[in-house]
Amino acid sequence: MKAESVDQLHLLDLQHVDTVIDQLTHRRRTLPELAEIERLTVDQRRQRDDVVRAETEVSDLTREQRKLESDVDQVRSRAERDRQRMAVSTSGKEAESLQHEVVSLARRQSDLEDQVLELMEQLEGAATRLAEAAGGLATSETAYDTAVAGRDGQFQLIDADLAAQQQARATAAGELPAALLAHYEAIRASSRGTGAARLYRRRCEGCHLELSGGDLQRVRSAPADEVLHCEECGRILVRTPESAL
Ligand SMILES: [Zn+2]
Repeated sequence: MKAESVDQLHLLDLQHVDTVIDQLTHRRRTLPELAEIERLTVDQRRQRDDVVRAETEVSDLTREQRKLESDVDQVRSRAERDRQRMAVSTSGKEAESLQHEVVSLARRQSDLEDQVLELMEQLEGAATRLAEAAGGLATSETAYDTAVAGRDGQFQLIDADLAAQQQARATAAGELPAALLAHYEAIRASSRGTGAARLYRRRCEGCHLELSGGDLQRVRSAPADEVLHCEECGRILVRTPESAL
């Protein structure tokens, strides 16, 4: 392929812009905030489950406590009624039976009150777990919001940079002959983003290998408008005054 040496030099400008665009795109894709957001999203899913579990525990225990307390009230008022009946009873046998029931109710009340106490302890533990889970979730949510704001700020900067570079790329590409541009694009696509490399002090800046022997001889004797390729990496090799040929 033939191309004016000035066009070959323009290829290097285009390559520079393409490399910057690739770097910006890579940075946009690998922002630390993105990994942080992903991690926090997973954390929050687990933490929300913890909160729901603790809330359920607290509400179950509270319901159980209310039921026990209402049982205590019933036992207490039944005993009170028994005592009132005892006070007005004229039958010794009835009084004895009532007395018997009052004793049994007192035992029942004491059992129920023990259960209430035990339940209150459990409830305290559950409430602590709920507060911890809710606190953990709130911390995560704050960290998540910070990471999202950080990501969006970075996106804004990178996208502004990218827009400017895309503009520069369009200008640089517009100056090149279509065939040379297409040739460059094809090599760039198969050579990890670098389609054209400068020959600097006999070294290909694409693969960093130094030209010697027959390769060097071939480059020296090639006409200036001949598009050369590195024998090692296949990239377009652009001669400059610093090629030291
Ligand atoms: Zn090379």
